[in-house]
Amino acid sequence: MNLFIRRRKNKEKIFYDWKIEKQCLNLIFEAAKSTYPNEFGGLLRVDSDHKYTISEIIILPGTIQGDSHTIFQLHMMPVDFNIVGTIHSHPSTSFFPSNADLQLFQKHGRIHIISAYPYDIKSFKSYNNFGNIINLEIV
Ligand SMILES: [Zn+2]
Repeated sequence: MNLFIRRRKNKEKIFYDWKIEKQCLNLIFEAAKSTYPNEFGGLLRVDSDHKYTISEIIILPGTIQGDSHTIFQLHMMPVDFNIVGTIHSHPSTSFFPSNADLQLFQKHGRIHIISAYPYDIKSFKSYNNFGNIINLEIV
């Protein structure tokens, strides 16, 4: 089940001006730190007035946080069009997506964050559906 809007098919522009609220990013880092050495996973949510500003993290019920992978229980995903993508942490210093990550990116959402150890401003990257690094402005 794919609850995300498939914008690519509508030939809408795929390069958005994504932003994330600083407190939201800090929450990601804190959650990743407290879950270490396991992975932390969640969904990224925007608010209705600011469609490209991530302001909230949603933890899916039943998300399994393993030491090498986070299994998103996507059938548990709420019907919520303000959910724009995923966040997960890596227990290593690599913020590059794995093959499984790339498959997830293609299927679900438009922006995906990977936060790597030691979970700070220098150790995270954001990606589009294709696994290309995209800019994420902190506001
Ligand atoms: Zn990963």
